[in-house]
Amino acid sequence: MTTVNQKQTMPPLVRTAVSVGAHFSGLSRLVAARYGGRGMIFALHSVVDDDAFYPDYTLRCSTDRLEWALGWLRDEGLDFVSLDEAVRRLGENDPRPFACFTLDDGYADNLTRALPVMERFGAPFAVFVTTGMVTREIDGWWFGLAALVRSYDRIELPASSLSFDCPDLPRKRLAFRTIEAMVHKDFSLLTQLREAIAKSRIDCRALVDREALSEAQLRRLARHPLVTIGGHTTTHRNLAEAPAPAVEWEMAENRRFLQEITGQPIDHFAYPFGHARACGEREARICREVGFRTAVTTRAGTLFAEHAHELHALPRLHLAGDDTPSTLRCKVDGVYRAIQSRFGDPVARM
Ligand SMILES: [Zn+2]
Repeated sequence: MTTVNQKQTMPPLVRTAVSVGAHFSGLSRLVAARYGGRGMIFALHSVVDDDAFYPDYTLRCSTDRLEWALGWLRDEGLDFVSLDEAVRRLGENDPRPFACFTLDDGYADNLTRALPVMERFGAPFAVFVTTGMVTREIDGWWFGLAALVRSYDRIELPASSLSFDCPDLPRKRLAFRTIEAMVHKDFSLLTQLREAIAKSRIDCRALVDREALSEAQLRRLARHPLVTIGGHTTTHRNLAEAPAPAVEWEMAENRRFLQEITGQPIDHFAYPFGHARACGEREARICREVGFRTAVTTRAGTLFAEHAHELHALPRLHLAGDDTPSTLRCKVDGVYRAIQSRFGDPVARM
């Protein structure tokens, strides 16, 4: 059994970007001239009153932090716009800089916690809803993983001879982030993780039930003038590992489900996980054929006029619960994209 030294597995990109931002904000402004783009789409998940006690902090942002980030972005002179308006500005060469906000999966707190903050700023936002969150049928392994690290001081994945020490909150957070990152690199780890969750008698469905939007809440959210509901598949599986007919079903059935509940057209989509191992050109083509007008990834980057012709591969920036003026500065200026592309093409694509 190898005990994973979690500090060594911190994403080097994030570490580098954060230190660049913290120490060389002048350099960040220089990078912005090439990588800053016309606007950006921020990605969030759950918004909570206080994110200090959550081991799954990568998926949480506190209401205070969201409020601070919105104020910071507004002071930067960014207009807060809907995805439809962002597409219009990209297509019509409208030079006014903008920010869009998107929340993935379908957490009930998007209605109860995020909406009041967004209302104070008049900020439109999209909520990308997985059918399985509303029906409680989703394979929500990340809920189970959070419960696992919260409940135990040591997590073992014997088939991979891996173990993770997590006796206190900082190490629980590290363990969550490390295992989550390992799954995103190799989804076959999920078999072991599901086994560990089941063996610990953690009821993922009950955890989902506690946190997910109900049908009634989804309808309320959809009726709000600031809110756009978007698709996020039926089951939240890794689409890149699914056969083409299953990918089509994941998208089309989710779209049908959301249109039926909200009574509205569902034009926008977010790929589950969103990185290069979870979506590519095939998924973008199917998404277009199914009828979605745009789709967002989690490739880090800002938006350029070129994206008006690549509407099914729009990059996003993670708006994190631990963002600071330095990290937000780096994101807005395109520093993450500059580092990820090794100072190559500013336009993030599939
Ligand atoms: Zn998701």
